[in-house]
Amino acid sequence: MAIKELFAQHKKTFSFEFFPPKDAAGEALLYQTINDLRALHPSFVSVTYGAMGTNQDGTLFFVKKIKQELGVEVMAHFTCVCADKERVRSFLAELEAAGIYNILALRGDIPDDVDRTQVIAGDFRYASDLIAAIREHSNAFTIMAAGYPECHPEAPSLDADIDALKRKIDAGAQAVITQLFFMNDVFYRYCDRVRARGITVPIIPGIMPVQSARQLEIFSSKCGGISIPPEIKNFFTAKERTKEEALQFGIDFATAQCRDLLRHDVPGIHFYTLNRSRATRLIFEQLNK
Ligand code: FAD
Repeated sequence: MAIKELFAQHKKTFSFEFFPPKDAAGEALLYQTINDLRALHPSFVSVTYGAMGTNQDGTLFFVKKIKQELGVEVMAHFTCVCADKERVRSFLAELEAAGIYNILALRGDIPDDVDRTQVIAGDFRYASDLIAAIREHSNAFTIMAAGYPECHPEAPSLDADIDALKRKIDAGAQAVITQLFFMNDVFYRYCDRVRARGITVPIIPGIMPVQSARQLEIFSSKCGGISIPPEIKNFFTAKERTKEEALQFGIDFATAQCRDLLRHDVPGIHFYTLNRSRATRLIFEQLNK
């Protein structure tokens, strides 16, 4: 079922995010992961676009492959930083030709070697510009936008960032997927403020099972200040943890987080899988117990 129909019917969505792998071994792992997770009947899976320095064309390649060969509903992430109108038009045309009508429309992080004035002068300064262009191109797309419960790192305040979110919704975004977070209270407070701003679309929490102290460090610095609760900090600082201990802790923590979110009637959960199936699969099993 198309994602916008799921929203229209107020069905909960369970979605998994992947990134385009860099080599043949990564590709094999991704297919294995998707196959493993397919058994959980996700509402859709998504493929990131140029995140963490990976190849942008990889997004198109993998969304098409997932849709055509694995038959899973898929959403392409698409970032507009440094893109021109022709790039956007051709990306949309490629998705349409493949029968893919779901996009997470993003600005993207401005690369270190790009002059900010170039971005400001470009065709698309913010994600809201991209969303407006997609809407102008076709009404067939389900468009989602990114939300930041702990504020986007470049925004002067959370209120200003929620104003930016409102522009994305007004431009045509139909749902929000949030940045990962570990403290549900932060998410609930964010939802209250977003609702108070008049935004009524589904807000889907993004959940990432922690798998190591190093991974936690990378993500919290890359994502611009995600609060780490004391129980996670203590677990990793109390003593050296084995890979297995860390994985189990991440699964238990994320399961408790998801249980609480579902009790608060969230419209869905989006899992940052990092192209691995085990943690997400085990969280699902625990949730269904
Ligand atoms: P925007 O909504 O444009 O916001 C960017 C900044 O500009 C914010 O600080 C905002 O407050 C401000 N702003 C927006 N509009 C205005 C305005 N009119 N006036 C003043 N200020 C404004 N990155 C990738 O490269 N590839 C991916 O695949 C990817 N997937 C993601 C998936 C999710 C669920 C999330 C949450 C993030 C993802 N990102 C990805 C990261 C994202 O690209 C970065 O966080 C990026 O810096 C901001 O993108 P955005 O779409 O939120 O931008």
